[in-house]
Amino acid sequence: MIKYCGMVKFSKSRHSLAGKLILSVGVLMIFCSAVFGFLFIDFERQVLEKNLVNYAAATADLIDRGIQYGMLTGRRDLIQQNVKVIGMGKTIRFIKVYGPDGKVRYSSKEPGAAEGPPPPIDFGNVDALTTTHMIVGRGAKKTLLYITPILNKPQCYTAVCHFHTEGRNVLAVLEAGFYTNDVDRVVHDNMIATVLSGGLFVLVISVFLCIILYKLVSKPVALLEAGMKRIAKGDLDAPIDINTRDEMGLLARTFNSMTQDLKRYRLNMENWTHSLEDEVKRKTQEILKTQEELVNTEKLASLGRMAAGIAHELNSPLTGIVTFAHLLKGRLPAANTEEHEDLQVVIDQAERCSKIIKGLLGFSRGAGFEMVEINLNSLVEAVIAMISHQTRFYNIKFDLRLAAGLPPVLADPNQIQQVFLNMLMNASDAMNQKGAITIATRYLPAEDGRRIVETEFTDTGPGIVEPDVGKIFEPFYTTKPVGKGTGLGLSVSYGIIKKHGGDILVKSEPGRGATFLIRLPSGGKGGRDVDEKRSGN
Ligand code: ADP
Repeated sequence: MIKYCGMVKFSKSRHSLAGKLILSVGVLMIFCSAVFGFLFIDFERQVLEKNLVNYAAATADLIDRGIQYGMLTGRRDLIQQNVKVIGMGKTIRFIKVYGPDGKVRYSSKEPGAAEGPPPPIDFGNVDALTTTHMIVGRGAKKTLLYITPILNKPQCYTAVCHFHTEGRNVLAVLEAGFYTNDVDRVVHDNMIATVLSGGLFVLVISVFLCIILYKLVSKPVALLEAGMKRIAKGDLDAPIDINTRDEMGLLARTFNSMTQDLKRYRLNMENWTHSLEDEVKRKTQEILKTQEELVNTEKLASLGRMAAGIAHELNSPLTGIVTFAHLLKGRLPAANTEEHEDLQVVIDQAERCSKIIKGLLGFSRGAGFEMVEINLNSLVEAVIAMISHQTRFYNIKFDLRLAAGLPPVLADPNQIQQVFLNMLMNASDAMNQKGAITIATRYLPAEDGRRIVETEFTDTGPGIVEPDVGKIFEPFYTTKPVGKGTGLGLSVSYGIIKKHGGDILVKSEPGRGATFLIRLPSGGKGGRDVDEKRSGN
């Protein structure tokens, strides 16, 4: 596993920018070092060989002088002696002096000792010979051959011996062989030193290059890569920490500002999404409410049609039942108390039926509304005056907060009065006929281009629990005991207010009373100043 990871790491670093740079610079340095090393060693070899040649020339000159001295003095043994002694030099392999016939006249080696390489001399034309040198042989036998003619100088042909005539240019040929071992050894040593120092140089430069590239390239690139990965995961809160002034720093700063932009756009997008969600929720609620209202209106319409038919059919027989029950009761002797009570039950139940039928008729009416401009403050006061004598309102305190300068509404006064009466009856029932009812009127600022007059009924009863709030406007929904509630009061009121183009809203917190808001469109001109007036009974 570790090996595998290492391989991945290696192959990754090989393909990285820093890896490629190190590799290419390393190869370039090795190549340049090799070329320069080769040129340097070659140059050094040439210098050493030149020195060796100079040394060979000096040695040859020395031998030449020895030969001339020997010839002039007629001491041939001195020439041989001289050649032998000089030939014993450490760097000299051999010295030979050839006569024009090509035969060796003097040699540093003993006669019979191993001869050097054959001389590359054209002895048929030695006069044309000039000084020359060459390296021959290989390995331990590698030798610098120095060949130079021994010239016929004036002191030779003017000597008394007259052994050599002036016409001859070359008297003999000197051939000297020199060891090149020293040159080779120095070149070899230098080559090793050059390779080692070149390798060390490449190594040191590579290490420095690695450190510099790591600091300037690899580390910032790794930080950028990590930053990009963070962004890909959605984390936009961690900026890249590169504070240099170079291109990497510029890249990091650009990257950070891009991240900030991205964060801002994301925030805007989130806000936009939230507001869109809220808008969708609001619109959905509106649609649901409208749908509910439509269903309710439809229900009320069909109930109204049915109620009109039933009321028409049942009204006359019920009136007959009540009338004849009263007649029968009148004819019965007062002693028949049981029969009197039974007949009273018949009368009560028939009257209850009549009451229900009257309620049902509320649905069927409407087309015959008598719409007039009415002042809701006056209507509220009239309704209070009407009910204040009834025993069920004796223990109820009324708090009227009627706005002054209220604009009139276009409505059927009887219908609105029935709605207000229903609100007050329900409040009284909810409070067990004890408590306070606040009635307030107000003019609401224009809404959707409509001007609204609102009447509020608030009681101190137990309120309405959440699940019931949505049901109280349904026909026949009641929480009152059997015989007391019909469940038609609010649905009839709802129908009346809707037919007037208005709205009924309910607000209630269980245990803290209920508030009904009746909103009607204002039908005439009126003041906007709402000056609340308080009164109580
Ligand atoms: P009913 O009065 O015959 O029950 P309504 O339609 O007038 O029929 O009322 C329906 C129900 O609404 C009532 O039974 C009652 O539960 C609830 N309700 C109406 N007004 C109030 C109120 N002010 N406080 C508490 N509950 C109320």
